Amino acid sequence: MSKQIQITVSPREAAIAEALEKIVAAKAGCRPGDIAKLDILRRSIDARKRGQVKVFLTVEIFLHGEEMIKPSYDFRFENVRSCPEVVIAGAGPAGLFAAFRLIERGFRPVLIERGKDVGDRKRDIALLCRGEGLNPESNYCFGEGGAGAFSDGKLFTRSRKRGDIKRVLQLFHLHGASDDILIDAHPHIGTDVLPTVIRNMRQTIVQCGGEFHFGQKLTDLIICDGKVSGIATATGDRFKGRAVVLATGHSAADVYEMFHRNGYLLEPKAFAMGVRVEHPQELINSIQYYRSPEAAYLPAAAYALASQIEGRGVYSFCMCPGGYIVPASTSAGGQVVNGMSTARRHTAFANSGIVVETRVEDTGEFAQYGVLAGLRFRQHIEMLAAQNGRPDQVAPAQRTIDFVKGRISANLPACSYLPGVVSSSLHSWLPAQISRRLQEAFKVFDRKMQGFLSSESAIVGVESRSSTPVRIPRDIATMQHPQLPGLYPCGEGSGYAGGITSSAIDGVNVAEKL
Ligand SMILES: Cc1cc2nc3c(=O)[nH]c(=O)nc-3n(C[C@H](O)[C@H](O)[C@H](O)COP(=O)(O)OP(=O)(O)OC[C@H]3O[C@@H](n4cnc5c(N)ncnc54)[C@H](O)[C@@H]3O)c2cc1C
Repeated sequence: MSKQIQITVSPREAAIAEALEKIVAAKAGCRPGDIAKLDILRRSIDARKRGQVKVFLTVEIFLHGEEMIKPSYDFRFENVRSCPEVVIAGAGPAGLFAAFRLIERGFRPVLIERGKDVGDRKRDIALLCRGEGLNPESNYCFGEGGAGAFSDGKLFTRSRKRGDIKRVLQLFHLHGASDDILIDAHPHIGTDVLPTVIRNMRQTIVQCGGEFHFGQKLTDLIICDGKVSGIATATGDRFKGRAVVLATGHSAADVYEMFHRNGYLLEPKAFAMGVRVEHPQELINSIQYYRSPEAAYLPAAAYALASQIEGRGVYSFCMCPGGYIVPASTSAGGQVVNGMSTARRHTAFANSGIVVETRVEDTGEFAQYGVLAGLRFRQHIEMLAAQNGRPDQVAPAQRTIDFVKGRISANLPACSYLPGVVSSSLHSWLPAQISRRLQEAFKVFDRKMQGFLSSESAIVGVESRSSTPVRIPRDIATMQHPQLPGLYPCGEGSGYAGGITSSAIDGVNVAEKL
């Protein structure tokens, strides 16, 4: 019989196996030599108290002579080659997890993806980062694995009640993510590991009889006898099935346009806009770990900040310790930034989105576009960001302290953003209600995290794709579009999820309902 023990240790004790074994043995009432195997089941870091960084662990020990049971997963992926087909548009987390659940329930998923497979997509992203052009169908947002395929791969979600998060983590683990994601309180996979995980997932789906069609962009829905029975794509191909899962993400502006053109119901939705802020990681470590002598045993520090400014939330989003800022636009005429990190989170930079809650009434003259007001507003700001940057995704940037003091940066600090940055006065082109709130929020954040407003920190524009400005509605009970039976809007693009894990859970839930 194994024994589970909860302990609180110092970062050094958590990092050194022998030190940890000694403490665990003392707590278990045995000698370190009696322990045959020690597994960490759960790990979280508490750095809230100055000078007292602690690591909470739940460990499981097996003593010599005890039976060691290997973890097993309860996934049953059987052959569905001759089963009814379901068309899934979009091979991001929502589409992929819907496909797995459909296989478990005896359906054959047919995935239609506008971008390339994750290997070819990697090459397009390398070109983009070298300033050699943006492929509008293969970039940080479009292609196999979706928007999260080249990201930090943070898997933490607050929507714990929506579904079985553990199963999502187990499915990623089964396909190659590290053991750490099953242990850490804030798990992440890393951009260097994610493409392999995504490729392995595709292989499982294909082995079960599922299909992938890359370079196929959904342009229309096929409706027969009042029911959605398939999709048409830009190549003129048609894919039919028992139902259609629409998991095209929130960067697919053309999908929203198609709905609007055809008079299919859409709803406006609050979203968020802002900038990405970057600091030296050393600075964030010293603020968050209070210059702890044991910082060397701790991972690159993260932070989460939030404040209410003039009736709107301003908050940090998708923080990437030891990461890079990346170009996440889907068109050459727009500038968008986001963040990613490798599994080791090893760069000298810490970046995070800092975004302002934006409601339809905040879109000013764009309100005339009705349900598409938020989308048009987003496109407009992305265009302004591009105009204030340089071609080939060179992004507009400003020292954070200069932004707060309202002065132009004569020069910029080192930045992880590979296409390069150029000095710009962000107040001159960001909408006033956003830039004013950001300005105030940075002062508040500096009070919460002293040193946040360092002269070595810069903001880069524009962080505009943290959430969708449009919802594709669905009936609560059936999860189908109210006007379009057979169509299951799903994931972030439909406004029912935000982030990798919640989109994956939404995919599972939609498939289950279907
Ligand atoms: C650089 C970056 C870093 C991120 N980091 C994190 C992170 O660390 N943690 C986190 O939780 N979230 C992160 N996110 C957000 C996260 O990726 C998304 O929330 C998540 O991927 C949404 O999943 P989805 O399946 O709903 O949509 P998406 O991932 O957007 O997938 C939609 C898919 O549909 C395809 N598609 C679009 N239109 C069509 C069409 N017309 N026809 C066919 N296919 C189409 C797209 O190519 C894409 O593959 C990051 C996003 C980016 C861009």
